[in-house]
Amino acid sequence: MIPSKIVLASNNAGKLKEFSAIFSTIGIAIVPQGELGVSEADEPFATFVENALAKARHASLHTGLPALADDSGLCVNSLHGAPGVFSARYASLNGGEKSDQANNAHLIKTLGPYADRSACYVALLVYVSSADDPRPIIAEGVWNGEIIDTPRGTNGFGYDPYFYLPDLGKTAAQLDPAEKNRQSHRGMALHKLVQALKERDSI
Ligand code: IMP
Repeated sequence: MIPSKIVLASNNAGKLKEFSAIFSTIGIAIVPQGELGVSEADEPFATFVENALAKARHASLHTGLPALADDSGLCVNSLHGAPGVFSARYASLNGGEKSDQANNAHLIKTLGPYADRSACYVALLVYVSSADDPRPIIAEGVWNGEIIDTPRGTNGFGYDPYFYLPDLGKTAAQLDPAEKNRQSHRGMALHKLVQALKERDSI
């Protein structure tokens, strides 16, 4: 059964807005875990899916509600998928500070010797109906692009000014927020998840 309320295992205002907009279309209210007194779960794993599952279980366990979690990052092919699950902490794990600017500087320096600049953003969403749900719903969105050396655009966050989309002739930071949501890894994963929830409900 599709629930009327889901706890979101994040307190990020941008994500809450994006997720609420799409879930409201099927009558589901999204509540951030902080509002229910839930602490942040650890994210100790090497894969997006394990981290998202751990976060969703944690939120469901502490609220008794169905829970939704996401984990996302940038995977660069020349770097064997790095920074991956470490995207937010890429520079700080390599002696720098924890900021988008430091992460981008570290990425461009590391990629210096490589001709292959192909990369993708990955968003992994996990929905659990309870903390011991044996059938979590897992949805992945992948957005392919290339890393460029010179930043372009001021929208978005993270690696967006360096994430170039050849088909659009723009970086992710040159897209307005609505267009980014339509194209992005997170938007894609979100639509897949809602579709899977609807299909499961009709079984
Ligand atoms: P989190 O899933 O919110 O923890 O995000 C992980 C990290 O991946 C962010 O801090 C960014 O460095 C990177 N990332 C994930 N999605 C995006 C995006 O849409 N644009 C830019 N960077 C992103």
